[in-house]
Amino acid sequence: MSQPVRVRFAPSPTGHLHIGGARTAIYNWAFARRNGGAFVLRIDDTDPERSTAENTAAILRSLRWLGLDWDEGPEAGGPYGPYFQTARGPLYDEALARLQEASAVYPCFCSPEELAEKRDASRAAGGPAGYDRTCRSLEPAAAASRIASGEPHVWRIAVPESRGDVIFDDAIRGTVTFPADALDDFVVVRSDGTPTYNFATVVDDVSMEITHVVRGDDHLSNTPRQIVVFEALGQAVPTFAHLSMILGSDGKRLSKRHGATSVEAYRDEGILPEALVNYLALLGWSLDDKTTVFDAATLVDNFSFDRVSKNPAVFDPEKLAWLNGVYIRDLSPAEFAERVTPLLVDAGLLRAEDAATRRPWLESLAPLVAERVKRLTEVPPAVAFLFADDIEIDPSAAEKVLSVPGARAALETAAHELGAVEPYEAAAIESALRAVPERLGLKPKQVFQAVRVAISGSTVSPPLFESLELLGRERAVARLEAATRLAAE
Ligand code: GLU
Repeated sequence: MSQPVRVRFAPSPTGHLHIGGARTAIYNWAFARRNGGAFVLRIDDTDPERSTAENTAAILRSLRWLGLDWDEGPEAGGPYGPYFQTARGPLYDEALARLQEASAVYPCFCSPEELAEKRDASRAAGGPAGYDRTCRSLEPAAAASRIASGEPHVWRIAVPESRGDVIFDDAIRGTVTFPADALDDFVVVRSDGTPTYNFATVVDDVSMEITHVVRGDDHLSNTPRQIVVFEALGQAVPTFAHLSMILGSDGKRLSKRHGATSVEAYRDEGILPEALVNYLALLGWSLDDKTTVFDAATLVDNFSFDRVSKNPAVFDPEKLAWLNGVYIRDLSPAEFAERVTPLLVDAGLLRAEDAATRRPWLESLAPLVAERVKRLTEVPPAVAFLFADDIEIDPSAAEKVLSVPGARAALETAAHELGAVEPYEAAAIESALRAVPERLGLKPKQVFQAVRVAISGSTVSPPLFESLELLGRERAVARLEAATRLAAE
Protein backbone atom coordinates (compact mmCIF):
# COMPACT_ATOMS: atom_id res chain seq x y z
CA MET A 1 0.00 0.00 0.00
CA SER A 2 1.32 3.41 -0.79
CA GLN A 3 1.96 5.92 1.95
CA PRO A 4 -1.03 8.08 2.91
CA VAL A 5 -0.80 11.56 1.46
CA ARG A 6 0.24 14.25 3.93
CA VAL A 7 0.71 17.83 2.80
CA ARG A 8 1.38 20.97 4.74
CA PHE A 9 0.73 24.66 4.35
CA ALA A 10 3.43 26.48 6.28
CA PRO A 11 2.86 30.22 6.36
CA SER A 12 5.19 32.59 8.18
CA PRO A 13 3.03 34.85 10.34
CA THR A 14 4.86 37.97 9.27
CA GLY A 15 1.74 39.37 7.64
CA HIS A 16 -1.84 38.46 6.82
CA LEU A 17 -2.80 35.69 4.40
CA HIS A 18 -2.27 36.94 0.89
CA ILE A 19 -3.75 35.86 -2.42
CA GLY A 20 -0.66 33.82 -3.33
CA GLY A 21 -0.53 32.05 0.01
CA ALA A 22 -4.25 31.37 -0.18
CA ARG A 23 -3.83 29.72 -3.57
CA THR A 24 -1.01 27.55 -2.19
CA ALA A 25 -3.28 26.58 0.70
CA ILE A 26 -6.16 25.79 -1.69
CA TYR A 27 -4.02 23.46 -3.81
CA ASN A 28 -2.62 21.71 -0.74
CA TRP A 29 -6.09 21.32 0.69
CA ALA A 30 -7.62 20.10 -2.57
CA PHE A 31 -4.80 17.61 -3.09
CA ALA A 32 -5.19 16.25 0.44
CA ARG A 33 -8.97 15.98 0.14
CA ARG A 34 -8.75 14.42 -3.33
CA ASN A 35 -6.41 11.73 -2.05
CA GLY A 36 -8.02 11.13 1.32
CA GLY A 37 -4.89 12.50 2.94
CA ALA A 38 -4.12 14.96 5.71
CA PHE A 39 -3.87 18.71 5.32
CA VAL A 40 -1.48 19.98 7.96
CA LEU A 41 -1.16 23.62 8.98
CA ARG A 42 2.23 24.53 10.35
CA ILE A 43 3.17 28.01 11.49
CA ASP A 44 6.73 28.93 10.49
CA ASP A 45 7.18 31.54 13.16
CA THR A 46 10.95 31.40 13.47
CA ASP A 47 11.43 35.08 12.64
CA PRO A 48 10.85 36.53 16.12
CA GLU A 49 10.90 40.13 14.99
CA ARG A 50 8.25 39.86 12.33
CA SER A 51 6.06 36.98 13.52
CA THR A 52 3.08 38.00 15.62
CA ALA A 53 0.19 36.22 17.29
CA GLU A 54 -2.11 38.73 15.64
CA ASN A 55 -0.90 37.67 12.18
CA THR A 56 -1.29 34.00 13.09
CA ALA A 57 -4.85 34.65 14.22
CA ALA A 58 -5.58 36.51 10.98
CA ILE A 59 -4.18 33.65 8.89
CA LEU A 60 -6.32 31.08 10.71
CA ARG A 61 -9.36 33.32 10.32
CA SER A 62 -8.75 33.72 6.59
CA LEU A 63 -8.29 29.99 6.04
CA ARG A 64 -11.48 29.25 7.94
CA TRP A 65 -13.37 31.90 6.05
CA LEU A 66 -12.23 30.31 2.78
CA GLY A 67 -13.49 26.96 4.06
CA LEU A 68 -10.02 25.37 4.10
CA ASP A 69 -10.27 23.14 7.14
CA TRP A 70 -7.02 21.63 8.37
CA ASP A 71 -6.75 18.19 9.92
CA GLU A 72 -3.78 19.02 12.11
CA GLY A 73 -2.29 22.26 13.30
CA PRO A 74 -3.04 25.19 15.58
CA GLU A 75 -6.34 24.73 17.42
CA ALA A 76 -6.88 21.36 15.73
CA GLY A 77 -3.95 19.62 17.44
CA GLY A 78 -2.73 16.32 16.08
CA PRO A 79 -0.17 13.61 16.67
CA TYR A 80 2.73 15.37 14.92
CA GLY A 81 2.74 18.57 16.98
CA PRO A 82 3.66 21.04 18.13
CA TYR A 83 2.64 22.89 14.97
CA PHE A 84 4.50 26.13 15.69
CA GLN A 85 8.18 26.08 14.74
CA THR A 86 9.12 28.10 17.81
CA ALA A 87 7.84 25.22 19.94
CA ARG A 88 9.84 22.63 18.02
CA GLY A 89 13.34 23.61 19.20
CA PRO A 90 14.12 20.22 20.78
CA LEU A 91 13.39 18.49 17.46
CA TYR A 92 15.90 20.70 15.64
CA ASP A 93 18.49 20.10 18.39
CA GLU A 94 17.95 16.38 18.10
CA ALA A 95 18.29 16.45 14.32
CA LEU A 96 21.48 18.49 14.60
CA ALA A 97 22.87 15.97 17.10
CA ARG A 98 22.15 13.18 14.65
CA LEU A 99 23.96 15.01 11.87
CA GLN A 100 26.88 15.74 14.20
CA GLU A 101 27.18 12.07 15.06
CA ALA A 102 27.18 11.17 11.38
CA SER A 103 29.74 13.94 10.68
CA ALA A 104 27.29 15.32 8.16
CA VAL A 105 27.75 18.81 9.63
CA TYR A 106 30.73 20.72 10.94
CA PRO A 107 31.18 23.82 13.07
CA CYS A 108 32.33 26.94 11.27
CA PHE A 109 34.09 29.71 13.15
CA CYS A 110 34.50 32.14 10.30
CA SER A 111 33.24 35.55 11.33
CA PRO A 112 30.74 37.46 9.18
CA GLU A 113 33.56 39.87 8.21
CA GLU A 114 35.82 37.02 7.12
CA LEU A 115 32.97 35.51 5.13
CA ALA A 116 32.28 38.79 3.39
CA GLU A 117 35.97 39.16 2.50
CA LYS A 118 36.16 35.64 1.11
CA ARG A 119 33.01 36.22 -0.90
CA ASP A 120 34.31 39.45 -2.37
CA ALA A 121 37.67 37.93 -3.21
CA SER A 122 36.08 34.91 -4.84
CA ARG A 123 33.71 37.06 -6.81
CA ALA A 124 36.53 39.32 -7.98
CA ALA A 125 38.34 36.25 -9.23
CA GLY A 126 35.21 35.04 -11.00
CA GLY A 127 34.82 32.14 -8.53
CA PRO A 128 31.73 30.74 -6.80
CA ALA A 129 29.88 32.89 -4.28
CA GLY A 130 29.42 30.09 -1.74
CA TYR A 131 31.42 29.24 1.36
CA ASP A 132 34.96 28.06 0.62
CA ARG A 133 34.87 25.22 3.19
CA THR A 134 37.75 26.56 5.30
CA CYS A 135 36.40 25.07 8.53
CA ARG A 136 35.52 21.74 6.98
CA SER A 137 39.14 20.67 7.30
CA LEU A 138 39.53 21.56 10.98
CA GLU A 139 40.63 18.70 13.22
CA PRO A 140 37.54 17.51 15.15
CA ALA A 141 39.44 17.76 18.45
CA ALA A 142 40.55 21.31 17.71
CA ALA A 143 37.03 22.28 16.71
CA ALA A 144 35.63 20.70 19.87
CA SER A 145 37.97 22.67 22.09
CA ARG A 146 37.13 25.93 20.34
CA ILE A 147 33.44 25.18 20.93
CA ALA A 148 34.18 24.31 24.57
CA SER A 149 35.96 27.62 24.99
CA GLY A 150 32.78 29.40 23.92
CA GLU A 151 33.93 30.59 20.50
CA PRO A 152 30.95 31.65 18.36
CA HIS A 153 30.20 29.21 15.56
CA VAL A 154 27.51 28.10 13.15
CA TRP A 155 26.88 24.57 11.91
CA ARG A 156 27.27 23.91 8.22
CA ILE A 157 26.18 20.92 6.28
CA ALA A 158 29.08 19.00 4.72
CA VAL A 159 27.75 18.47 1.22
CA PRO A 160 29.20 15.10 0.20
CA GLU A 161 32.10 15.45 -2.26
CA SER A 162 30.41 12.81 -4.38
CA ARG A 163 27.13 14.78 -4.56
CA GLY A 164 26.62 15.56 -8.22
CA ASP A 165 23.93 17.72 -9.73
CA VAL A 166 20.69 17.76 -7.79
CA ILE A 167 17.97 16.48 -10.05
CA PHE A 168 14.38 15.99 -9.01
CA ASP A 169 11.01 15.47 -10.60
CA ASP A 170 8.72 18.32 -9.79
CA ALA A 171 5.04 17.37 -10.06
CA ILE A 172 4.35 20.60 -11.94
CA ARG A 173 7.61 21.58 -13.60
CA GLY A 174 8.92 18.16 -14.57
CA THR A 175 12.62 17.41 -14.24
CA VAL A 176 14.52 20.19 -12.50
CA THR A 177 18.32 20.21 -12.40
CA PHE A 178 20.60 22.25 -10.16
CA PRO A 179 24.30 21.90 -11.00
CA ALA A 180 26.50 20.54 -8.22
CA ASP A 181 28.67 23.64 -8.08
CA ALA A 182 25.68 25.74 -7.05
CA LEU A 183 25.64 23.90 -3.71
CA ASP A 184 27.91 25.19 -1.00
CA ASP A 185 28.20 24.01 2.60
CA PHE A 186 25.28 26.11 3.78
CA VAL A 187 24.42 26.94 7.38
CA VAL A 188 21.85 24.75 9.11
CA VAL A 189 22.11 26.16 12.64
CA ARG A 190 23.05 29.75 13.40
CA SER A 191 25.45 30.92 16.08
CA ASP A 192 22.53 31.61 18.42
CA GLY A 193 21.45 27.99 18.08
CA THR A 194 18.39 28.66 15.89
CA PRO A 195 17.82 26.58 12.78
CA THR A 196 17.79 28.14 9.32
CA TYR A 197 14.68 27.88 7.18
CA ASN A 198 16.15 25.14 4.99
CA PHE A 199 16.97 23.03 8.02
CA ALA A 200 13.84 23.58 10.14
CA THR A 201 11.60 22.95 7.15
CA VAL A 202 13.20 19.62 6.38
CA VAL A 203 13.27 18.47 10.01
CA ASP A 204 9.57 19.32 10.23
CA ASP A 205 8.67 17.77 6.90
CA VAL A 206 10.45 14.58 7.96
CA SER A 207 8.94 14.37 11.42
CA MET A 208 5.47 15.28 10.15
CA GLU A 209 5.81 12.58 7.46
CA ILE A 210 5.01 15.02 4.68
CA THR A 211 4.71 13.23 1.34
CA HIS A 212 4.23 16.23 -0.97
CA VAL A 213 5.66 19.71 -0.59
CA VAL A 214 3.37 22.06 -2.48
CA ARG A 215 4.50 25.68 -2.39
CA GLY A 216 5.34 28.78 -4.39
CA ASP A 217 8.21 28.66 -6.82
CA ASP A 218 10.00 31.36 -4.87
CA HIS A 219 11.24 28.33 -2.91
CA LEU A 220 12.43 26.41 -5.96
CA SER A 221 16.01 27.57 -5.41
CA ASN A 222 15.88 26.30 -1.81
CA THR A 223 14.89 22.84 -2.91
CA PRO A 224 18.35 21.44 -3.76
CA ARG A 225 19.57 22.44 -0.31
CA GLN A 226 16.58 20.86 1.32
CA ILE A 227 17.15 17.67 -0.67
CA VAL A 228 20.72 17.57 0.66
CA VAL A 229 19.35 17.85 4.22
CA PHE A 230 16.84 15.03 3.62
CA GLU A 231 19.72 12.91 2.37
CA ALA A 232 21.98 13.84 5.29
CA LEU A 233 19.21 12.78 7.66
CA GLY A 234 18.89 9.51 5.74
CA GLN A 235 15.27 10.25 4.85
CA ALA A 236 13.21 9.81 1.71
CA VAL A 237 12.75 13.01 -0.28
CA PRO A 238 9.09 14.01 -0.68
CA THR A 239 7.55 14.94 -4.00
CA PHE A 240 7.83 18.65 -4.74
CA ALA A 241 5.24 20.69 -6.59
CA HIS A 242 6.23 24.31 -7.18
CA LEU A 243 3.49 26.71 -8.17
CA SER A 244 4.19 29.51 -10.58
CA MET A 245 3.95 33.07 -9.53
CA ILE A 246 0.86 35.20 -9.62
CA LEU A 247 1.42 38.37 -11.60
CA GLY A 248 -0.31 41.71 -11.66
CA SER A 249 -1.78 43.06 -14.90
CA ASP A 250 1.57 44.70 -15.72
CA GLY A 251 3.35 41.35 -15.74
CA LYS A 252 5.18 42.05 -12.48
CA ARG A 253 4.86 39.86 -9.42
CA LEU A 254 1.57 40.60 -7.63
CA SER A 255 2.15 43.05 -4.81
CA LYS A 256 0.49 45.85 -2.91
CA ARG A 257 1.12 48.11 -5.89
CA HIS A 258 -1.62 46.22 -7.71
CA GLY A 259 -4.21 46.88 -4.99
CA ALA A 260 -5.55 44.67 -2.25
CA THR A 261 -3.58 41.48 -1.78
CA SER A 262 -4.82 40.12 1.54
CA VAL A 263 -7.69 37.68 1.70
CA GLU A 264 -9.42 39.75 4.36
CA ALA A 265 -9.30 42.83 2.16
CA TYR A 266 -11.32 40.90 -0.43
CA ARG A 267 -13.74 39.72 2.26
CA ASP A 268 -14.18 43.35 3.32
CA GLU A 269 -14.79 44.36 -0.29
CA GLY A 270 -17.74 42.00 -0.43
CA ILE A 271 -16.19 39.04 -2.22
CA LEU A 272 -17.75 35.70 -1.27
CA PRO A 273 -15.32 33.07 -0.02
CA GLU A 274 -16.58 30.47 -2.50
CA ALA A 275 -16.00 32.92 -5.37
CA LEU A 276 -12.48 33.66 -4.16
CA VAL A 277 -11.65 29.94 -3.85
CA ASN A 278 -13.02 29.33 -7.34
CA TYR A 279 -11.09 32.26 -8.78
CA LEU A 280 -7.80 31.43 -7.05
CA ALA A 281 -8.11 27.77 -8.02
CA LEU A 282 -8.28 28.95 -11.62
CA LEU A 283 -5.06 30.93 -11.27
CA GLY A 284 -2.92 28.08 -12.46
CA TRP A 285 -5.26 25.12 -12.45
CA SER A 286 -8.05 24.27 -14.88
CA LEU A 287 -10.90 21.84 -14.65
CA ASP A 288 -11.07 21.50 -18.41
CA ASP A 289 -10.62 24.00 -21.19
CA LYS A 290 -13.86 25.83 -20.67
CA THR A 291 -15.41 25.67 -17.19
CA THR A 292 -14.88 28.75 -15.07
CA VAL A 293 -17.54 28.32 -12.41
CA PHE A 294 -17.16 25.34 -10.11
CA ASP A 295 -17.54 24.72 -6.41
CA ALA A 296 -14.96 23.45 -3.96
CA ALA A 297 -16.35 19.90 -4.13
CA THR A 298 -15.79 19.85 -7.89
CA LEU A 299 -12.28 21.19 -7.39
CA VAL A 300 -11.57 18.40 -4.91
CA ASP A 301 -13.05 15.72 -7.15
CA ASN A 302 -10.89 16.77 -10.06
CA PHE A 303 -7.72 18.19 -8.59
CA SER A 304 -4.40 16.93 -9.85
CA PHE A 305 -1.02 18.52 -10.55
CA ASP A 306 -1.29 17.45 -14.19
CA ARG A 307 -3.62 20.35 -14.76
CA VAL A 308 -1.54 22.92 -12.93
CA SER A 309 0.21 25.25 -15.32
CA LYS A 310 3.93 25.94 -15.32
CA ASN A 311 3.26 29.45 -16.56
CA PRO A 312 2.62 32.39 -14.28
CA ALA A 313 -1.01 33.41 -13.94
CA VAL A 314 -2.25 36.98 -14.11
CA PHE A 315 -4.54 38.16 -11.35
CA ASP A 316 -7.48 40.04 -12.80
CA PRO A 317 -9.65 41.80 -10.18
CA GLU A 318 -12.35 42.43 -12.77
CA LYS A 319 -12.72 38.74 -13.51
CA LEU A 320 -12.90 38.02 -9.80
CA ALA A 321 -15.65 40.63 -9.44
CA TRP A 322 -17.53 39.12 -12.38
CA LEU A 323 -17.28 35.64 -10.89
CA ASN A 324 -18.40 37.01 -7.54
CA GLY A 325 -21.49 38.45 -9.22
CA VAL A 326 -22.25 34.98 -10.57
CA TYR A 327 -22.04 33.57 -7.06
CA ILE A 328 -24.16 36.35 -5.58
CA ARG A 329 -26.92 35.68 -8.12
CA ASP A 330 -26.72 32.03 -7.23
CA LEU A 331 -27.41 32.55 -3.54
CA SER A 332 -30.83 31.52 -2.30
CA PRO A 333 -32.84 34.39 -0.76
CA ALA A 334 -32.12 32.90 2.68
CA GLU A 335 -28.36 32.79 2.05
CA PHE A 336 -28.44 36.26 0.58
CA ALA A 337 -30.22 37.64 3.66
CA GLU A 338 -27.78 35.81 5.91
CA ARG A 339 -24.76 37.32 4.21
CA VAL A 340 -25.96 40.88 3.79
CA THR A 341 -27.35 41.22 7.30
CA PRO A 342 -23.96 42.01 8.91
CA LEU A 343 -23.25 44.57 6.20
CA LEU A 344 -26.62 46.23 6.69
CA VAL A 345 -26.00 46.33 10.44
CA ASP A 346 -22.52 47.81 9.91
CA ALA A 347 -23.97 50.41 7.57
CA GLY A 348 -26.38 51.46 10.31
CA LEU A 349 -29.42 50.52 8.21
CA LEU A 350 -30.58 47.63 10.36
CA ARG A 351 -30.39 47.01 14.07
CA ALA A 352 -28.90 43.62 14.86
CA GLU A 353 -31.79 42.86 17.20
CA ASP A 354 -34.30 43.46 14.39
CA ALA A 355 -32.60 41.10 11.94
CA ALA A 356 -34.68 38.06 12.90
CA THR A 357 -38.09 39.73 12.69
CA ARG A 358 -37.22 41.46 9.45
CA ARG A 359 -35.81 38.30 7.92
CA PRO A 360 -38.69 37.62 5.46
CA TRP A 361 -38.46 41.22 4.30
CA LEU A 362 -34.69 40.87 3.90
CA GLU A 363 -35.16 37.71 1.90
CA SER A 364 -37.45 39.50 -0.50
CA LEU A 365 -34.66 42.01 -1.15
CA ALA A 366 -32.54 39.31 -2.73
CA PRO A 367 -34.05 39.10 -6.20
CA LEU A 368 -34.15 42.88 -6.40
CA VAL A 369 -30.48 43.52 -5.97
CA ALA A 370 -28.66 40.25 -6.59
CA GLU A 371 -28.83 40.78 -10.35
CA ARG A 372 -27.23 44.16 -10.13
CA VAL A 373 -24.23 43.82 -7.87
CA LYS A 374 -20.81 42.26 -8.18
CA ARG A 375 -19.86 42.72 -4.55
CA LEU A 376 -21.88 42.38 -1.37
CA THR A 377 -20.67 45.81 -0.30
CA GLU A 378 -22.70 47.30 -3.14
CA VAL A 379 -25.90 46.10 -1.48
CA PRO A 380 -26.29 48.53 1.45
CA PRO A 381 -26.03 51.72 -0.65
CA ALA A 382 -28.34 50.23 -3.28
CA VAL A 383 -31.07 49.46 -0.74
CA ALA A 384 -30.53 52.22 1.83
CA PHE A 385 -33.62 54.09 0.61
CA LEU A 386 -35.78 51.12 1.59
CA PHE A 387 -34.58 51.32 5.20
CA ALA A 388 -34.51 55.03 5.85
CA ASP A 389 -37.50 56.95 7.15
CA ASP A 390 -36.62 59.98 5.14
CA ILE A 391 -34.50 60.34 2.09
CA GLU A 392 -32.76 63.21 0.47
CA ILE A 393 -33.39 63.71 -3.18
CA ASP A 394 -30.23 64.06 -5.18
CA PRO A 395 -30.38 67.64 -6.58
CA SER A 396 -29.25 66.62 -10.04
CA ALA A 397 -31.95 63.92 -10.17
CA ALA A 398 -34.52 66.49 -9.06
CA GLU A 399 -33.31 68.89 -11.71
CA LYS A 400 -33.41 66.28 -14.44
CA VAL A 401 -36.67 64.54 -13.61
CA LEU A 402 -38.81 66.60 -11.27
CA SER A 403 -38.42 69.95 -12.97
CA VAL A 404 -39.97 68.62 -16.17
CA PRO A 405 -43.55 69.88 -16.80
CA GLY A 406 -46.09 67.27 -15.81
CA ALA A 407 -43.91 65.84 -13.01
CA ARG A 408 -46.20 67.14 -10.30
CA ALA A 409 -49.32 65.67 -11.85
CA ALA A 410 -47.48 62.37 -12.33
CA LEU A 411 -46.53 62.21 -8.66
CA GLU A 412 -49.93 63.29 -7.39
CA THR A 413 -51.73 60.74 -9.50
CA ALA A 414 -49.26 58.01 -8.59
CA ALA A 415 -49.67 58.83 -4.90
CA HIS A 416 -53.40 58.60 -5.28
CA GLU A 417 -53.17 55.23 -7.04
CA LEU A 418 -50.80 53.83 -4.46
CA GLY A 419 -53.10 54.98 -1.68
CA ALA A 420 -55.89 52.87 -3.09
CA VAL A 421 -54.32 49.86 -4.78
CA GLU A 422 -55.25 46.47 -3.34
CA PRO A 423 -53.44 44.32 -2.56
CA TYR A 424 -50.35 46.44 -2.00
CA GLU A 425 -48.12 44.11 -4.01
CA ALA A 426 -45.74 44.59 -6.91
CA ALA A 427 -48.06 43.17 -9.60
CA ALA A 428 -51.07 45.25 -8.57
CA ILE A 429 -48.88 48.32 -8.09
CA GLU A 430 -47.53 47.86 -11.58
CA SER A 431 -50.95 47.69 -13.24
CA ALA A 432 -52.19 50.68 -11.26
CA LEU A 433 -49.17 52.80 -12.24
CA ARG A 434 -49.11 51.68 -15.88
CA ALA A 435 -52.47 53.38 -16.39
CA VAL A 436 -51.17 56.75 -15.20
CA PRO A 437 -49.08 57.99 -18.17
CA GLU A 438 -51.85 57.58 -20.69
CA ARG A 439 -54.36 59.25 -18.45
CA LEU A 440 -52.07 62.28 -18.11
CA GLY A 441 -50.77 62.27 -21.66
CA LEU A 442 -47.22 61.68 -20.47
CA LYS A 443 -44.59 59.19 -21.52
CA PRO A 444 -44.37 56.09 -19.27
CA LYS A 445 -40.69 56.71 -18.67
CA GLN A 446 -41.39 60.21 -17.43
CA VAL A 447 -43.88 59.00 -14.84
CA PHE A 448 -41.82 56.06 -13.66
CA GLN A 449 -38.63 58.11 -13.38
CA ALA A 450 -40.45 60.72 -11.32
CA VAL A 451 -41.73 58.00 -8.99
CA ARG A 452 -38.29 56.46 -8.81
CA VAL A 453 -36.62 59.73 -7.88
CA ALA A 454 -39.36 60.43 -5.35
CA ILE A 455 -38.98 57.15 -3.50
CA SER A 456 -35.24 56.50 -3.86
CA GLY A 457 -33.80 59.98 -4.26
CA SER A 458 -31.93 58.89 -7.36
CA THR A 459 -32.48 57.99 -11.00
CA VAL A 460 -31.06 54.50 -10.51
CA SER A 461 -32.68 52.04 -8.17
CA PRO A 462 -33.66 48.41 -7.98
CA PRO A 463 -36.85 47.49 -9.90
CA LEU A 464 -39.50 50.06 -9.20
CA PHE A 465 -42.68 48.10 -8.46
CA GLU A 466 -40.92 45.65 -6.15
CA SER A 467 -39.21 48.54 -4.41
CA LEU A 468 -42.57 50.21 -3.87
CA GLU A 469 -43.92 47.03 -2.33
CA LEU A 470 -40.93 46.65 -0.01
CA LEU A 471 -41.14 50.27 1.01
CA GLY A 472 -44.72 49.81 2.18
CA ARG A 473 -47.72 51.89 1.25
CA GLU A 474 -47.40 54.53 3.90
CA ARG A 475 -43.80 55.45 3.26
CA ALA A 476 -44.24 55.28 -0.52
CA VAL A 477 -47.20 57.66 -0.50
CA ALA A 478 -45.47 60.03 1.92
CA ARG A 479 -42.38 60.19 -0.31
CA LEU A 480 -44.43 60.87 -3.42
CA GLU A 481 -46.27 63.67 -1.62
CA ALA A 482 -43.03 65.15 -0.33
CA ALA A 483 -41.56 65.12 -3.83
CA THR A 484 -44.69 66.73 -5.23
CA ARG A 485 -43.68 69.91 -3.46
CA LEU A 486 -40.40 69.94 -5.43
CA ALA A 487 -41.97 69.07 -8.77
CA ALA A 488 -42.90 71.30 -11.67
CA GLU A 489 -46.53 71.79 -12.66
N1 GLU B 1 7.30 29.58 5.73
C1 GLU B 1 7.65 29.41 4.35
C2 GLU B 1 6.94 30.50 3.55
O1 GLU B 1 5.97 31.04 4.03
C3 GLU B 1 7.25 28.04 3.91
C4 GLU B 1 7.84 27.60 2.65
C5 GLU B 1 7.61 26.12 2.42
O2 GLU B 1 6.46 25.77 2.14
O3 GLU B 1 8.56 25.38 2.57
O4 GLU B 1 7.36 30.87 2.50
